[in-house]
Amino acid sequence: MDAPTPARARTEGSLAPLVDGFGRVADDLRISVTDRCNFRCTYCMPAEGLAWLPKAELLTFEELTRLVRLFVRLGIRSLKITGGEPTVRADLPVLVRMLREVAPGTDISMTTNGVLLDRLAEPLAEAGLDRVTVSLDSLLRHRFAEMTRRDALERVFAGIAAAERAGLAPVKINCVIVGGTNDGEVVDFARWSRETGHVVRFIEYMPLDAQQAWERAKVVPSARIVAAIDAVFPLEPLDPDAEPARSYRFADGAPGGIGVIASVTEPFCDTCNRLRLTAEGQVRACLFALEETDLRGPLRSGASDEELEALIRDTVARKWAGHRINHPDFVRPERSMSAIGG
Ligand code: SAM
Ligand code: SF4
Repeated sequence: MDAPTPARARTEGSLAPLVDGFGRVADDLRISVTDRCNFRCTYCMPAEGLAWLPKAELLTFEELTRLVRLFVRLGIRSLKITGGEPTVRADLPVLVRMLREVAPGTDISMTTNGVLLDRLAEPLAEAGLDRVTVSLDSLLRHRFAEMTRRDALERVFAGIAAAERAGLAPVKINCVIVGGTNDGEVVDFARWSRETGHVVRFIEYMPLDAQQAWERAKVVPSARIVAAIDAVFPLEPLDPDAEPARSYRFADGAPGGIGVIASVTEPFCDTCNRLRLTAEGQVRACLFALEETDLRGPLRSGASDEELEALIRDTVARKWAGHRINHPDFVRPERSMSAIGG
């Protein structure tokens, strides 16, 4: 067989990593596959939903696959499929299979509200998905319904069980704590973690809700959550790892554990390795970025990989030092969490 020509080798080989102006390497890509959702979490979007993107504006599976192939060559090592609610995108297992083919050694996970996992967990696992994180903000039926505006707690529990059976493990749980709503449940979540073995990560409420109802008074500092749990179930910190979550195990050796994502009170921007691709193909270097770069237009008008690479590198190079939530000059991004891809 002929040796590959230099041009061909360049097309298929790995490229220099994506490094920003502060020396941080972007190797984690969050891909939003839809802006739509079948829940209406009060901290995320209004009861009537949002003006969804027309289908023609979403990146197609082929476009997503082409971009992911390039991102992997640029050093992306983990892919998180998100949304909106990713499971409402038709034929999601087909997409996962396509991504798995172009990213064979990459960790591919998904963040979901879990309500459709009872029927999708198995086909997603078969298609090559590694893990899921399920959002669960209350263990109480009435509060779950109040926070998500859907009476679906039992279906989410069924989805978590289906994910475990399908081997999408370890199933992690994301829980957004909103002061005055579910903050009284943190110790109950820790108890549930000990009983089920699921690690629960508490996320601070961020100013990314579409209806702009966020107030600082509703942010429950992660340090307070850790202290409340530690008083009942003593905790031991785990070694800090690549994740932004600070993780703890139970000192008595019980299964499960907790994590906190203190985006507001203790930002972790210094070590942020994330990059985001919105459902319509905008690349963003930060959740709170005020600028984004369109990849869909160039993709659809025939841009080469080298041209797309230059656009991505430029976006990463201009990534700012950190978000400015705690500064008087903070400006909310126009997009809300579900339209960015959390
Ligand atoms: N629909 C999926 C879900 O809920 O898991 C995936 C998309 S959702 C936007 C991703 C994560 O963002 C979820 O864990 C959700 O709880 C979190 N989230 C949404 N709005 C938030 C906010 N204002 N502050 C903090 N986290 C938020
Ligand atoms: Fe939907 Fe997720 Fe937003 Fe809840 S947090 S409304 S499940 S996108």
